[in-house]
Amino acid sequence: MITRSPASLQRVIPATIEKGDSSWQAQLSGALRDPRVLLSRLKLDEALLPGAEAGHALFEVRVPAAYLARIRPGDPNDPLLRQILPLSAESDTVQGFVSDPLEEAEHTPHPGLIHKYAGRVLLIASPICAINCRYCFRRHFPYGENSPSRAQWNDALNYMRNDTSIQEAILSGGDPLASSDKRLSWLVKRLEEIPHLKRLRIHTRLPVVIPDRIDGTLLDWLGATRLQKVMVLHINHANEIDDAVIKACARLQSIGVTLLNQSVLLRGVNDSVEALAALSERLFEAGILPYYLHVLDPVSGAAHFDAPDDEAVILVEALRERLAGFLMPRLVREVPGEKSKSPLSLRSP
Ligand SMILES: *Cc1c(COP(=O)(O)O)cnc(C)c1O
Ligand code: SF4
Repeated sequence: MITRSPASLQRVIPATIEKGDSSWQAQLSGALRDPRVLLSRLKLDEALLPGAEAGHALFEVRVPAAYLARIRPGDPNDPLLRQILPLSAESDTVQGFVSDPLEEAEHTPHPGLIHKYAGRVLLIASPICAINCRYCFRRHFPYGENSPSRAQWNDALNYMRNDTSIQEAILSGGDPLASSDKRLSWLVKRLEEIPHLKRLRIHTRLPVVIPDRIDGTLLDWLGATRLQKVMVLHINHANEIDDAVIKACARLQSIGVTLLNQSVLLRGVNDSVEALAALSERLFEAGILPYYLHVLDPVSGAAHFDAPDDEAVILVEALRERLAGFLMPRLVREVPGEKSKSPLSLRSP
């Protein structure tokens, strides 16, 4: 038996613990936002700088430290790096790639509320994200017009109260968990008062990019709701899941949250059977079930991530031969005007 002397114990405890610096709020506001610093921190070729600056001018760089730490320095092809590093290709105009590919502007009865599908509404609960993903279909989203005040929330809540077909509220964004616990718990309390609402779903990347977001305060308000809780995470590569992410997921499961994942099929990130199989396996180790694998929405600035549909279908068919059925994500695309996400098959147009 090894007995630790008080002296050796002291050595493993840092001299000063500044709680403020490690809080999720500090990690969020301290996210890296300078392309030059990004390149030097990751020991990447300075030749990438002009392209990175140009992309940054279109959609700013934003990377929290916890995510940055999972990127291999010196590797320009790292699958996590590719998701956050702006490239000169973002400035290219590519036919078919537009600023509002989902035509969401047409389905917004109230600021911050999107009602496209039966039984569920999407609420824009935060205008910002903790990380800026280069392929994001919201990179041109008019967030300024869609971050509701409390008065506007009341209109959105009334809309939901008056439509008894709505059973599920989906908090989205931006990233809803970039919002404060105070605002979120206020909103969830209001949602709970709507008698026909059964489920609260949260679409978020925060437990992945800042695992400390899943702290006691969040578990308190989320654990207290009568609504059934589903969290749809957004993870594209197995390397995004480290021990801290697994712990955050375990905390969420401990209060009864069902964990699902959606990914985007991204060229140069996860467009291989090996990468997708490893992702599904790793997700399950973290207690997360694969839900959707989206083909890229044709948003301008992201065309270099596009994998052709026929390739996507072949890839997923090969994946099916490798994985247990419950580890298979559904390959879908979002078609404006459709009543649900649309499954892709070999015969899709
Ligand atoms: C994707 C989406 C949903 C959720 O769809 P599910 O198939 O239930 O995951 C709801 N509303 C909008 C506007 C969406 O884009
Ligand atoms: S909405 Fe999701 S994909 Fe888009 S930048 Fe935010 S976290 Fe990334």
